[in-house]
Amino acid sequence: MAVSTSVTPRDARDAWIDAKLADLGQWMQRHGGTIRTIQWGVVAVYLVLVAVPAFLPLPDRSAHLWNNLTVFAQFAFWGIWWPFVLVSMVVVGRAWCGILCPEGALTEFASRWSLGRAVPRWITWGGWPFVAFAGTTVYGQMVSVYGYPKPVLAVLGGSTVAAILVGLLYGRNKRVWCRYLCPVNGVFAVLAKLAPVSFQVDYAAWAASPKPRGATASKPRGDSFNCAPLVPVKTMNGAGACHMCGRCSGYRGAVRLARRSPTHEIVHVAGSEPSLDQTMLILFGMMGLAVGAFQWSSSPWFIDVKQALATWLIERGTTWPLETTLPWYILTNYPEHNDVLSLLDGGLLLGYIAAAAIVLGLSLSGLVALATLALGWSRARFHHLTQTLIPVAGCGVFLGLSALTVTFLRGDGILIPYVSEMRAALLLGTSLWSVWLAWSVAGLSARGLRRAGATLGIAAACALSVSGWVLLFWIW
Ligand code: SF4
Repeated sequence: MAVSTSVTPRDARDAWIDAKLADLGQWMQRHGGTIRTIQWGVVAVYLVLVAVPAFLPLPDRSAHLWNNLTVFAQFAFWGIWWPFVLVSMVVVGRAWCGILCPEGALTEFASRWSLGRAVPRWITWGGWPFVAFAGTTVYGQMVSVYGYPKPVLAVLGGSTVAAILVGLLYGRNKRVWCRYLCPVNGVFAVLAKLAPVSFQVDYAAWAASPKPRGATASKPRGDSFNCAPLVPVKTMNGAGACHMCGRCSGYRGAVRLARRSPTHEIVHVAGSEPSLDQTMLILFGMMGLAVGAFQWSSSPWFIDVKQALATWLIERGTTWPLETTLPWYILTNYPEHNDVLSLLDGGLLLGYIAAAAIVLGLSLSGLVALATLALGWSRARFHHLTQTLIPVAGCGVFLGLSALTVTFLRGDGILIPYVSEMRAALLLGTSLWSVWLAWSVAGLSARGLRRAGATLGIAAACALSVSGWVLLFWIW
């Protein structure tokens, strides 16, 4: 029987896209200098926006983002930068980290003159992504980082100084900070798993190619490359750790920028790398703590508890928790703007965020556990099913941050149309994406009712997560 070898228009289009992507990877590999020039441009803009507003008077009512540097910097950082860097992770992986991130560029630059110390074990602790994310999120709320320039200098500037110090101490020409300690490394790593493009390794081609002359595992030479974020490129099978810098493109004829299904890494790779740290980050961080952090200032529950506690304290003649304030770098303190948090406010803020993290985290864990039980319990399966929640978890963090975008623009009289509809569509779309991932993961080990039961458990977890955002955007 004759076998048809005809090439369909779709095949031709796919081949064209593959070739263009591979070319783009090679272009990045050859034009490292151009990428570094872009990075230094971003560093210059970043340093001005982080540092200068902290030394200017606070903006008054006549200030707008087009005539006041402080307002512009607030909008640039919290209205554009953070929400859309998150989106970029899902679209092009961690290209932000490898091409644009000023902190990454500075820590790598500093590590040229590093003392070259070996990376100590405390830095490689797997809990940092959660602890650093939680710490900066909570501290940011305590000092109102979204509203004032000095906290921006403390949070972002402090992080940048820490990145440079780590660069000066550990590794050589590396990004030890980014690999282990950056507060958003964990969130970026989980979101990049959804990216439809990544640098991919052809293991057979790697094994078949001759080793570059003089190279060893620890000291590459010749046509070798420097992977600054310390990715073990030879065994790389996901996009979570790769900064998409392109330096390894074409290496041994085995590495290239290529397409992949946005479900591939979660369904076919994440199961072989069960990670308690990422599970904690997704369930208790992105879907728990972040919800509390974005919710507390709009929550009627917060106000009810505060009033009840204040009344109870006043009746007992204990007024100091209501009257004591702290410096701005511990708790928001701007009396000239009628924006002061008392000790009571601060304690309740921390309590609210902690309660959201614990209640939502445990409830979501319970639902994922039920989904896992439907397939037959195993810890690895629990971690794998948790990864299916990444789309809806990422959507929540994006919506929380982009609410600031909407607020900033509204403050300047710019109304974005259909905001509610877009939020609803994003929550629905990412929930369906998570459910589809759960169906696919469950299908690896079960059929029929067990598969449906596991998917239902994840669907319930999506519904619980969405309910927190429904309260914030539509009910309160
Ligand atoms: S694996 Fe390393 S060298 Fe290759 S693109 Fe990613 S970050 Fe760059």
